[in-house]
Amino acid sequence: QSKRAGSHGHTVYQPGMVDRRSADAALADDLAHALDHDELYVLFQPIVDTATGRTLGAEALLRWEHPTRGPIGPDKFIPVAERTGVIIPVGLWVLEQALAQVGTLGADRYISVNLSPRQLREPTIVHDVLAALNRTGVPATRLVLEVTESALVDDDSGIAALHQLRSHGVRIAVDDFGTGYSSLQYLTRLPVDILKIDRSFVATMDGTPSGAAVATAIIYLANVLNMRTIAEGIETTEQAEELRALGCETGQGYLYAKPLTPDALLSRLSASLG
Ligand code: C2E
Ligand code: MG
Ligand code: MG
Ligand code: MG
Repeated sequence: QSKRAGSHGHTVYQPGMVDRRSADAALADDLAHALDHDELYVLFQPIVDTATGRTLGAEALLRWEHPTRGPIGPDKFIPVAERTGVIIPVGLWVLEQALAQVGTLGADRYISVNLSPRQLREPTIVHDVLAALNRTGVPATRLVLEVTESALVDDDSGIAALHQLRSHGVRIAVDDFGTGYSSLQYLTRLPVDILKIDRSFVATMDGTPSGAAVATAIIYLANVLNMRTIAEGIETTEQAEELRALGCETGQGYLYAKPLTPDALLSRLSASLG
């Protein structure tokens, strides 16, 4: 109780609060209230055709502006949200926010939303996603759900949920593909449409075959399995060209756009930057 002294009910961070568990617990506490306190918002990073620069879709990326600590990155708070289960309401909120932007995107662009392992394990996940689509009137074919390899391994009910969502037209992407240390065999059995090449494998691309080795293998695998690829973290034109030469023409990265507010996304699209 003593540390919960903030005037708006969030934790005051004492200099002595160094032990990771109490810092974690404090973060979890604050996160539980972040939604009610309007501290969360969603940015949208364009996913583009790297040959033309045209925007094909956008990925929803969650942000947290903590009232006293300032911005906290998702790499820091998503794992906490996952452990405490707060990711369930927060994740559904992100989905609603994302679906509300489909109008902004216009044409037949898609919206891509990250789904955490914990969300995938929720028995109501299929119902929740379909209900959100219904409420917002967005066709299922315009939604991509991004799941990680670790979410798919050893989760038969999660895989069944993805099969069901896919039968309604939702597409499934494996996020950060290649970083999960899981057997490749599992991929042939999974309901997957897209492999997202992790940005660590794009960062190593330097014009040498070894620099492109993992990206090359992922693109090859995707082709054989009839899946598409999306490269993450494209920062240079050289990386984009090399990826195109390997057969991956879709990507996202600072070269094209950082994650944008809905307004900035709209002006980018209407400025016909694509
Ligand atoms: P992710 O899904 O792999 O998202 C891509 C991350 O790469 C984003 O980081 C994005 O801002 C960053 N990025 C994009 N282009 C570039 C680039 O050219 N260079 C560099 N250095 N970075 C780039 P962000 O927004 O910090 O998100 C980190 C991770 O947090 C996400 O990785 C995702 O795993 C998780 N996350 C974010 N929002 C959500 C959410 O709503 N739900 C869940 N479950 N996870 C989320
Ligand atoms: Mg993602
Ligand atoms: Mg990713
Ligand atoms: Mg990533």
